[in-house]
Amino acid sequence: MSDCIFCKIANGEIPSDKIFEDDKVLVFNDISPQSPVHFLVIPKEHIPSIKYIDEKNIDIINHITLVINKIAKEKGLDDKGYRIVNNCGEFGGQTVEHLHFHVLGGRQLMWPPG
Ligand code: IMP
Repeated sequence: MSDCIFCKIANGEIPSDKIFEDDKVLVFNDISPQSPVHFLVIPKEHIPSIKYIDEKNIDIINHITLVINKIAKEKGLDDKGYRIVNNCGEFGGQTVEHLHFHVLGGRQLMWPPG
């Protein structure tokens, strides 16, 4: 989508601190990290939020899960653990309307998140 910041990051129009990419996803560090490790995983295809996942595009979630596990391991998070966050919609705290998964780690995270 032309005015979507994460689409612009995915197509290189806006620079990012890229960690990994393949034909389906991009992984980059969050610009405002909330933990020592905080990266985002996005599909390159514009999907506004997880509520737009259905039988036709569910495969991207499987792929994202595998990518998260791979990058988390490379970042040394798989021993102590990490948190995957997906905010959906206004009340869910979603500020960028392009599906993304936060991966946070490197410190003890609290629960409930608030
Ligand atoms: P949300 O609040 O779940 O939608 O998360 C959006 C996230 O995108 C926030 O954690 C922001 O810090 C992050 N963000 C926004 N713009 C950029 C950017 O240009 N580069 C990297 N992260 C960004």
